[in-house]
Order: sequence, then structure tokens, then C-alpha cells
Amino acid sequence: MITLEALRPIHPRLIEWRRDFHRHPELGMEEYRTAKVIAEHLREWGYEVREGIAATGVIGLLRNGDGPIVMVRADMDALPIQEANEHDYVSTIPGKMHACGHDAHMAIGLGVAEWMAEHRDAWHGTLMMLFQPGEEGFNGAAKMIAAGALEHPHPDLFLALHVWNEMEVGQVSAAVGPVMAAADAWSTHIIGKGGHAATPHESIDPVYIAALTVEALQSIVSRNVDPMKTAVLTVGSIHAGTAFNIIPNEAELKGTVRTFEETVRETVMGRLKTIVEGTAWMMGGVATLEVAEGTPAVVNDEKVSHVVWKAITDIVGEQGLRTDVRTMGSEDASFFMREVPGCYFFVGSSPVDGEKVPHHHPRFDIDEEALIIGAAVMIDALLRLFGGEAA
Ligand SMILES: [Zn+2]
Ligand SMILES: [Zn+2]
Repeated sequence: MITLEALRPIHPRLIEWRRDFHRHPELGMEEYRTAKVIAEHLREWGYEVREGIAATGVIGLLRNGDGPIVMVRADMDALPIQEANEHDYVSTIPGKMHACGHDAHMAIGLGVAEWMAEHRDAWHGTLMMLFQPGEEGFNGAAKMIAAGALEHPHPDLFLALHVWNEMEVGQVSAAVGPVMAAADAWSTHIIGKGGHAATPHESIDPVYIAALTVEALQSIVSRNVDPMKTAVLTVGSIHAGTAFNIIPNEAELKGTVRTFEETVRETVMGRLKTIVEGTAWMMGGVATLEVAEGTPAVVNDEKVSHVVWKAITDIVGEQGLRTDVRTMGSEDASFFMREVPGCYFFVGSSPVDGEKVPHHHPRFDIDEEALIIGAAVMIDALLRLFGGEAA
């Protein structure tokens, strides 16, 4: 199909775009400058452009004859982090930084969009380039769907990628099935009965109930979830009391549940409710569970993933193909993938033999070779999908 070397001439442009986005980070649902830059390029290359979808979302449509409608998604938001890097393209906005790599995703998206527009004789169908706001906790994907992003036209197939610093540049992974977890946030208020710390017998101590609850919650993954399945339950926040000599009236716990499968999720959420309410009841208090349903799991379609495997092999060879990367992190691309079968793949982006600075870290950076690899795999996969390989 294509080779990395054939695409090499566009690498300087990918770097230039990525560094421009990196210098000008914008937080979720506020990506106004970013969206404007993207929309202008798409128009210049002949795309029909829709802007302002769920605040700042952009869709570019390139109709190029009969064939499947394939959607490529990139996310646009930065994070509220003060950058600690010292390269010459550091963030110019205090307290904001592209520390997840979404600057790279947009640069790759633009590179793909331009190449596909300039090589219309190489494929037939409709390409839908979607740039979404607010991936970092705002569910921008769901907001774009609610605003009609998947209608007129409704795409047949979906592709997205994430640069991935846990993997060295030159490796690309597309696993079949779940690759990122469903994430639910939960909280509980445990109501006891406050009093003097010296007279516990006249109180119902919510601190003790909270401690018992945290302890009992550990039994869910170890005793209720099938050992062959995956789940995480973390208590991330615990608050109660104001002074050493007072038994407070209430305590608050907050946490998250991460699962790959709906049946496992139901088991964990059911036990969570029973333990939270039951532990408080057992000790004479009252607790209720509140759940904020988060993002669903990212689940890769088998046929589309197999096409992406061929694309990865074309670009980085057999030795660069991985099919095993999964993470309990979450991603709102899952909202699109619930509606459209597709593949979400990881592009290794940490320097070979170098330090693997994690995502969301103030010194996060990527090896920019990942830009050309990501764009090349995406283009190769698109050419294969437009050629009917996933049908
Ligand atoms: Zn992130
Ligand atoms: Zn990200």
C-alpha cells in the first residue's frame, strides 16, 4: 500500500503543526484557536467543514465517489498542568500543557487529511475527519454525538489512535476486543452521629464505618470477580472530621470502578452498593451510594483490527506489530465506537532506550518519529478500508 519512506516528505509539516498546537494549548471545551486552525486547513484542502459542534468540535467531509464512509477521530484538548520541559516549543500559556499527546493526534489528523485530499485517485468513498473537544473528563465525544456528529452521514467504520509513551517508538499495537476500560465514578456519604471523642458509646462513629467500608470493598475484586476477568476498584478520596477530640457526624468516600466487560461491571457495582449500605447499616449508621456513569469500554472490532494489523506491518514490519496493549485507563472514543465498529490503536512514542515519561506528567514529550508512523499507519489502514478489506 504505502511505505514510511514514501510519506517522509510530510514529516516536517507534521512536526510544525504539532509544535504549534503544543505552544498554544487549550483546555477541554475551550479549544477555539485550535479548532479554527484545523477548520481553515480542512477548507483549504477541499473538505466540507462543520464547526462549533458541541462548542468547538470540527468535522471535515471529503466525498470521493462510491464506497464506505470512514471516520477518523482526533482529540484536541490540553491539560491544566504547568509544563516543566525546556525545549524551544514549550507551552506559552501558564498552567496549561499538551501533556497527553493530543497535539500529536491533531497533527497526524491534519497530515492524513491533506494526504487523502491530494491522492483522491488512490481511493473511493467518503472520509470523515472528526476533531473532538474535551476528551480529558468532559465526555466531548458524547456531546458531539448528542449534537448530531454521527448523522448525515452516519459513518460505517471508525479509526483513532493514541501516541503511547509506555511503548517505544517503532512499535504499534492494535488489540482485538477491549483495550481501554469503562470508568465509573462513585461517592458515598456515611451518616453517623457526632459527639465527644471521649464518649464513643454515645456516638455512631462514621470514621470507623468508613474504615470498615474501605476494607470490605477490597473483597469485591478478590472474592466476587472471576479471576480470569479484569476489574479495578479504587477508593481515591476519604474525608471526615475537623479535630482530634470530636467524633464527626459524617464521612465521605469517593472512588472509581474500571472494567472491560458489562457483566463484570454489573457485578462490581452491585456489590459496591451492598457493601457501602450494608456496612453503615451494620454499625448503626446510614450510607447511600451515588454513581456517575462514566465512559464505556473501548472495544476494538475484530475485522477492522485485522486490517490495522496489515497496515502496521506495512509501515513498521512484523517486528513493530503488537496486539497486546490494553490499559485500565479510559477514553471517550468509546462513545463513537459503541455506534460505529472500528479500531483504536496505540502508537509507541517514547524514545528508544530513553526515559519513558508518563502521560499527564509536566515533562511529558514524545519522540516525533511517532508522528510519521501514526500518520502512515492511519493512511495505509484507510486505503485498505476504502478498498473493502473490512467488509
Ligand atoms: Zn490524557
Ligand atoms: Zn489522551
